[in-house]
Amino acid sequence: MAETRILTCINCPMGCELTVGVEDGKVVSVSGNTCKRGELYAESEITAPTRTITTTVITAEGRPVPVKTAQPIPKGMIFECTAAIKSAEVHLPVKVGQVIIDDLLGTGAKVTATKSVSE
Ligand code: SF4
Repeated sequence: MAETRILTCINCPMGCELTVGVEDGKVVSVSGNTCKRGELYAESEITAPTRTITTTVITAEGRPVPVKTAQPIPKGMIFECTAAIKSAEVHLPVKVGQVIIDDLLGTGAKVTATKSVSE
């Protein structure tokens, strides 16, 4: 069955509003995009939406460390992935870029520190 979805492309600050025609779970048309990336975004958002998680981990010493997923994870796993990141055991000192989790819940995504935090 055909349907129309309205999405906002998040690939750049222009935030183009995309009108996406979807039929049987597949993208059949995209309009409103200013560049090709909007079309690719619509395709992935409809068929396999992903997100990057940014959050903080509290170290064993009680200091917060900002972290993010180095690769996007499936949108449907955001809640459980965030919970897994929050429960990671981390000790100071932490260096920017340090891998906190190597493979987040089997998604293949690494979680890395986005800031150095020392004792
Ligand atoms: S379609 Fe292109 S120009 Fe528009 S928001 Fe997406 S990346 Fe930016």
